[in-house]
Amino acid sequence: MSSISVAGRLRNWVGGAWRDAEASEYLDVFDPATAEVIAQVPLSTRQDVEMAVAAAEAAFREWSRTPVPRRARIFFRYHQLLVEHWDELARLIVRENGKSYKDAYGEVQRAIENVEFAASAPTLLMGEQLANIATSLDSGMYRYPLGVVAGITPFNFPMMVPCWMFPLAIVCGNTFVLKPSERTPLLAQRLAELLEESGLPPGVFNIVHGSREVVQGLIEHPTVRAISFVGSQPVAAYVYSEAAAHGKRVQALAGAKNHTIVMPDANLDEAIPQIISAAFGSAGERCMACSVVVAVGSIADQLVEGLKSAADQIRIGNGLEEDVLLGPVIRAEHRYRTLQYIDAGIQEGAVLVRDGRQDRVEADGYFIGPTIFDYVHPSMKIWQDEIFAPVLSIVRVDTLDEAIALANESRFANGACIFTNNASAIRKFREEIDAGMLGVNIGVPAPMAFFPFSGWKDSFYGDLHANGKDGVAFYTRRKMITARV
Ligand code: NAD
Repeated sequence: MSSISVAGRLRNWVGGAWRDAEASEYLDVFDPATAEVIAQVPLSTRQDVEMAVAAAEAAFREWSRTPVPRRARIFFRYHQLLVEHWDELARLIVRENGKSYKDAYGEVQRAIENVEFAASAPTLLMGEQLANIATSLDSGMYRYPLGVVAGITPFNFPMMVPCWMFPLAIVCGNTFVLKPSERTPLLAQRLAELLEESGLPPGVFNIVHGSREVVQGLIEHPTVRAISFVGSQPVAAYVYSEAAAHGKRVQALAGAKNHTIVMPDANLDEAIPQIISAAFGSAGERCMACSVVVAVGSIADQLVEGLKSAADQIRIGNGLEEDVLLGPVIRAEHRYRTLQYIDAGIQEGAVLVRDGRQDRVEADGYFIGPTIFDYVHPSMKIWQDEIFAPVLSIVRVDTLDEAIALANESRFANGACIFTNNASAIRKFREEIDAGMLGVNIGVPAPMAFFPFSGWKDSFYGDLHANGKDGVAFYTRRKMITARV
């Protein structure tokens, strides 16, 4: 049965079959580059959540007893299928998210790396033993799955973020319910189809489309043991506290405002292209985007001039067109909100060095060109808030101490970068910056799948981060065994 019913209405994936949602309301899904409606997504109900959780629960017993190497082999096949479908998946990401093909291609790569990591399950799930803790007494630790776990994902990485969650959760022996972003729900459909083709048994992976009602249903459902959430800060804080209050294990990855410090000795030929890509790649809709550059001392004028002229070269347009770096933002409302931030920046006295509102694109999509503000101050909204769009703020300071203090003032603390060749500056930055993912002479310091994605402060709620050994610990519980034999 097709994943799409008449009139382009998406279905939920429940127990290995596509089912019409019980929903009475559907939302349009747009191609952000053309403003065309490309599908309709159901606002599923509690009943839909109930059915998906029941399917996941029914599949759990057998799946959790499936030998670990056999579980892993399914992900080897999945890996192969994702590689074979790389181009198709990247195009689908561009279609529903708007990012450039190059960014989408990179997203598929990041997602595949998570599947590679999950496929090493036999090693990841090993326990620990200590013989002879006392005479004739041995002790050991084994890992077990939790049961039914759920993932709630944002629009900006429709493939990578779900792949942070379900491959590892499932290979650890759990069954899974995914609630994808209602703004980018299509990619999840393909992920489900390819999982089925890989041989994953019915009910192990399920999708319930929708919005708040589905999230609330998952939070309150007694069978759901853990929730992985990625999205904006207010929703992450809410999901964390609500789900924890319902006795669930939660990891909630939230918003960001990442600072990049540029020291006077930085090599600008290398730093500028990296900053441009970090600020304007994926239209700035990345939790690891560079949204603030902190120019230290005498380098500021040259840096600002270099960033402006590099931004002038960026080709804006439909991400499927060749050489386009900057696609549209996700929705008309988000474009409007970004324009309001640009107005606020001007009113608050920042200097608009490059005005992306002036860039024209021959299409009806939600485009904004690269926008750069200089002389930004921490009292301004454009410094304080996550804008999540191609708007870069530059703050000028005199010393590295001031730069670090400024970055540490932000309530967000996902990532931070420094461009310098000075070893003591690098060390000071590493030791004193309050952020969880640091970059030295690189623009986007997103860790690979085998390390945790470790935001701090209001960029993360929970204890165990996504990915890496944290991810394994999050999706498993331990049994300690003490045996006299
Ligand atoms: P969002 O918070 O609007 O939506 C995320 C998910 O929560 C979606 O599935 C959505 O349906 C659901 N949701 C939205 N409002 C809700 C509500 N009131 N109650 C319950 N559920 C609700 O986020 P978004 O706009 O889709 O994604 C962008 C945000 O995600 C940015 O803030 C970005 O920084 C963040 N993000 C963070 C990371 C990270 O690793 N820290 C990674 C990617 C994205």
